[in-house]
Amino acid sequence: MARLELRNLHAEVAEGDEKILEGVTLEVESGEIHALMGPNGSGKSTTAKVIAGHPAYEVTEGEVLLHLEDEEFGEDIEIDADQRTWDLLDLEPNERAALGIFLGFQYPAEIEGVTMTNFLRTALNAKIEEREELFEGDEGDAEEEDDGFETSPMEGPADEGDVGVAEFQGILQEKMEQLEMDEKFAQRYLNAGFSGGEKKQNEVLQAAILEPSIAVLDEIDSGLDIDRLQDVSNGINALRDEQGTGILQITHYQRILDYVEPDHVHVMLDGQIAKSGGPELAEKLEDKGYDWVRDEVYGTA
Ligand code: ADP
Ligand code: MG
Ligand code: MG
Repeated sequence: MARLELRNLHAEVAEGDEKILEGVTLEVESGEIHALMGPNGSGKSTTAKVIAGHPAYEVTEGEVLLHLEDEEFGEDIEIDADQRTWDLLDLEPNERAALGIFLGFQYPAEIEGVTMTNFLRTALNAKIEEREELFEGDEGDAEEEDDGFETSPMEGPADEGDVGVAEFQGILQEKMEQLEMDEKFAQRYLNAGFSGGEKKQNEVLQAAILEPSIAVLDEIDSGLDIDRLQDVSNGINALRDEQGTGILQITHYQRILDYVEPDHVHVMLDGQIAKSGGPELAEKLEDKGYDWVRDEVYGTA
């Protein structure tokens, strides 16, 4: 069981003092789907990036905590009591990812000759290594700090003891079956000629392989036709159903919520969660837009 908690989170642009988040409080647990909705510019993507540790934002107040139980780590790592709650704001983006936070694909540039399979295997091995380091409490070689946003995990060969080619084929096959993806997909070269929809499917595949405890998916529904929206939605549901991933689904539109039914719906306005409710809240937003929430919150009807 994992639980991500945002407590009274305030954030601004790192280079400057423009305030964006003004007290966001939100909890997402394993197995739950939360929809984070709101008009453009309300702070949804900033929330996602602050969770992941994007260097463009500075947190000025509040907390981002990740609470973990042992079973998140399988048999290989047993967590000490004092490691169950992590203050993510103290950790580098790669370390947050290693603890099980997934932020929808930072889509890598096209790299000649690298297949999706190799890319995904390298990403998985990078996560495994980072996690081992975190739980060894290894304080050595800190000079190679990497914020994870500028480098791709394609650098460097995989170490021995990592998931090898043959083992990875098995993992990949299982995940692709789970997501009902076409096998040919993984043989394609990274990013080369992928349509927008295929990129979104790759994002879900990457999440399935990394098995995050909490996945933050930012507008994964944008620009998808109905068939592809269904495929991507099936994949998101499988993440929750097959591996218990808690999902923070950021979306401007209600449409995807017909296929990925949220347990909780939150409306963000001006850097705060202005209103929370169940799936019926999303339907009301579909019918009436966001203005009534604003009227309700600010009393300006
Ligand atoms: P949403 O995802 O809800 O559309 P964002 O989180 O992307 O909203 O942006 C919220 C507000 O913060 C917007 O007014 C946006 O222009 C501003 N903002 C976000 N990131 C930056 C940045 N790096 N520099 C300057 N302004 C930013
Ligand atoms: Mg600043
Ligand atoms: Mg956004």
